[in-house]
Amino acid sequence: MTGLTAALECISKGHTVEIFEESDHIGGLASAFPTHGTYLEKTYHHIYETEHEVLSLFSSLNLNERVVWRRLTTGIFIGGVLYPFTSPLDLLRFTPISFLSRVRMGLAVLFLRNKKSWRNLSSISAQKWMRRWVGNKAYQVVWEPLLRGMFHEHYSQISMAWLWNRLRTRSDRVAYVQGSLQVVFETLQKFLEDHRAIIHLNTLIDGISSYDSGAHLSIRGRSERFSFDRVLCTSPSPVFAGMIEGNPLPSGYVSSLSRPRNLGAVCLAFSSPQSLGPFYWTSIQDAESPFVVCIQHTNLVSSSFYGGEHMYYLNTYVPWDDWRFSQDEAQITEKYLSYLAKIFPAFERGKVSETHLFRARFAQHIAEIGYEKIIPQHKTPLPHVHLANFSQLFPEDRSMNCAVIEGMEAARMIMNDQ
Ligand SMILES: Cc1cc2nc3c(=O)[nH]c(=O)nc-3n(C[C@H](O)[C@H](O)[C@H](O)COP(=O)(O)OP(=O)(O)OC[C@H]3O[C@@H](n4cnc5c(N)ncnc54)[C@H](O)[C@@H]3O)c2cc1C
Repeated sequence: MTGLTAALECISKGHTVEIFEESDHIGGLASAFPTHGTYLEKTYHHIYETEHEVLSLFSSLNLNERVVWRRLTTGIFIGGVLYPFTSPLDLLRFTPISFLSRVRMGLAVLFLRNKKSWRNLSSISAQKWMRRWVGNKAYQVVWEPLLRGMFHEHYSQISMAWLWNRLRTRSDRVAYVQGSLQVVFETLQKFLEDHRAIIHLNTLIDGISSYDSGAHLSIRGRSERFSFDRVLCTSPSPVFAGMIEGNPLPSGYVSSLSRPRNLGAVCLAFSSPQSLGPFYWTSIQDAESPFVVCIQHTNLVSSSFYGGEHMYYLNTYVPWDDWRFSQDEAQITEKYLSYLAKIFPAFERGKVSETHLFRARFAQHIAEIGYEKIIPQHKTPLPHVHLANFSQLFPEDRSMNCAVIEGMEAARMIMNDQ
């Protein structure tokens, strides 16, 4: 999304663009797969009301009619019980913590959502801040499982500024693009190609080097090199580090490329004629569960778009040496679906009609305390080469909205690069 947005912006200013993509389709983490006569994102993708930049991108592509809005419904599975967790009233009725803790939690969230700046939150961990303001019990029951679910063993080091931003951007309603983001990417691709952009699919860049007035790209498996006035790399920072030919960069910059550490995502998408209840999003607060969130996508979009089937995601974030990155798809699928029956006893494995497992290595950067000080610069020390990926924004979390912001900003930078 970052690269495509940058391409769009450069084209709108009269430049010509070539895009290199290692896979056989565009869209990266936000791409979709064919299922039940339509497309569905490989991992859940919704948009909050606060995410104006991505919504204006859809608008500029004339896709407003495709954007549907729904109220977000959430639940929490904790201690073997599934609780509703959508409204302030749900919080007041949330018995795993005391009434006083519920009130403190409500006030803390209200305070954070109205707080304008994150600066005095970036040097304190979310763990410490939450323990202080919502109390130990509420932290342990609600916030620690959330932080562990997203950041694994790094959970205690996550910056409060990251959590502040996450709470601030959340809205009661979320948007979804009917027909999936596939529609967005097809429209983008057509627009770019109609404006003389060349998109090279199945083309992995494995070398970048600069020369006086531009930069060369090398492609894996090919001897020829491509030369451009300016290059924008939108790969994860460590991947970019591996592309640089020779040792032309200061060691400080090279080490900054590997400093933001990453977790992978392992997401099982499946379909079934069974509905498992009213919630779109269910957080699973149980260390035994192989996934941390269960999403019933068809509580956002009608199952009629999928031939009457309900579409689900079971997702988790894990380090690359985790078993979910080494075991085969069938084993992981069975472990995920077996656990699902603990949350929803009515769930029938035999009714599952399709399963698809998606694994992404660079899925979530670890937003530790002081993260803003280790972000590599967009303008790299390699002349005429810029870098833009979601780990370079802080305290924003990765999202399509950030990708659009990054893409626009990167395009401006490369167009101004002398
Ligand atoms: C589980 C999960 C759920 C998410 N849910 C949401 C959500 O609900 N809402 C939301 O807004 N966002 C969500 N996101 C985040 C969103 O998908 C990303 O922030 C956004 O897609 C990032 O786009 P990007 O272009 O920066 O990166 P990417 O999508 O990673 O794109 C990078 C592209 O570069 C290509 N590439 C990399 N290296 C090379 C190379 N050497 N040569 C050629 N090509 C290369 C890759 O194949 C890829 O296509 C979610 C992400 C995950 C993992």
